[in-house]
Amino acid sequence: MNISLTIPKTLDVTAIRKEFPILNREIKGRPLIYLDNAATTQKPQQVIDAIVHYYTNYNANIHRGIHTLAEEATADFEQTRDVVKTFIGAGSREEIIFTKGTTESINLVAYTWGRKNIRAGDEIIISNMEHHSNIVPWQILCEEKEAILKVIPINDAGELILDEYEKMLGSKTKLVSIVHVSNALGTVNPVKQMITRAHEAGAVVMVDGAQSAVHLDIDVSDMDCDFFAFSAHKLYGPTGVGVLYGKKELLESMPPFQGGGEMIKEVTFNKTTFNDLPYKFEAGTPNIADVIAFKTAIRFIESIGKEKIREHEKELLEYAHQELEKIPGLHIIGKARDKISVVSFIIEKAHPQDIGILLDNRGIAVRTGHHCAQPLMDRFSIPGTARASFAVYNTKDELDELVNGLKRAVKILA
Ligand code: PMP
Repeated sequence: MNISLTIPKTLDVTAIRKEFPILNREIKGRPLIYLDNAATTQKPQQVIDAIVHYYTNYNANIHRGIHTLAEEATADFEQTRDVVKTFIGAGSREEIIFTKGTTESINLVAYTWGRKNIRAGDEIIISNMEHHSNIVPWQILCEEKEAILKVIPINDAGELILDEYEKMLGSKTKLVSIVHVSNALGTVNPVKQMITRAHEAGAVVMVDGAQSAVHLDIDVSDMDCDFFAFSAHKLYGPTGVGVLYGKKELLESMPPFQGGGEMIKEVTFNKTTFNDLPYKFEAGTPNIADVIAFKTAIRFIESIGKEKIREHEKELLEYAHQELEKIPGLHIIGKARDKISVVSFIIEKAHPQDIGILLDNRGIAVRTGHHCAQPLMDRFSIPGTARASFAVYNTKDELDELVNGLKRAVKILA
């Protein structure tokens, strides 16, 4: 007997859009078209409700209290750790550290692992397409330790030149810290292959997953990265929450980042003993409400399915490329073979900021500027780009509006 399953292949974007109250907003008399998702995504009602529910019903400080509210808040907070662990395929919940974002996660590694392990003459490898958050902490570290920062170059399509990476790896390489998906180009880097090569050279690898965690299936165990960082606010979750995944043995060998609060076992004026993982790295009262709501965001993504979201966003990206390239004088920056969800572009004789202002007048939100990747802009000899970035709730109709807005901008600015 032939049983045909009737699982819908495409997304019901209309239904999904209804879950995001902000999408009902009008900007300057027109419906909001939000294409700045690489900066931060909008939040579904259920995430907003989770925050309100916590403050309304069981607001309390966690871990230390024995009263009912403290127990409820602690249990809910800790449940997010389990959800995150499964979401990224970590081996144990102790490997999930809550921070305030990707930036803090990378800094945590630079200030603890970095200061313990990097010595004069050691080499740290990053790439030409890094976000400032994955450049500056290593620069500060290298300056302090007299270590050397090496940069993997990229080609004109915005892809890493892997032959050059291979040549850089050597016995002096102590750390490779690489972005998984570029926020300015959308390039997906072959991190798994790069991690294998770095490990063969004896280096530790950190992956900046700020842009990848929402789009790609993340399995840190399979990827075999040593550290992985991402931010909840780019996954339909609240701001002020990030994750640092680290391999247990590495986290255990690292000194604490900040002192105080939950990160201690015992304190005397002579000596302090530090708490076990993951609490050793979570000093002070954390962002309880937003960590709690973060798991609602992850469940939102999982309830739709990353694969379906990816297919939808891929269609949007291909359509955007096809239609934008028809606009005279427009050049897309970043044409990597493996690319997701971001289209960066410049228009001859038009400053990106002016493009952004003209689009905003039509209710269209795009990002303009250097996207916290100034060395990348220098690589393409441009001051910045305009960037449209997509999420599950975007539509082809919105892209048509973007194209109309850009055609109008070209006429005004040329
Ligand atoms: N890395 C990349 C690739 C990013 O896109 C971002 C955010 N734009 C960051 C790091 C920093 O993330 P956060 O501001 O959430 O710390």
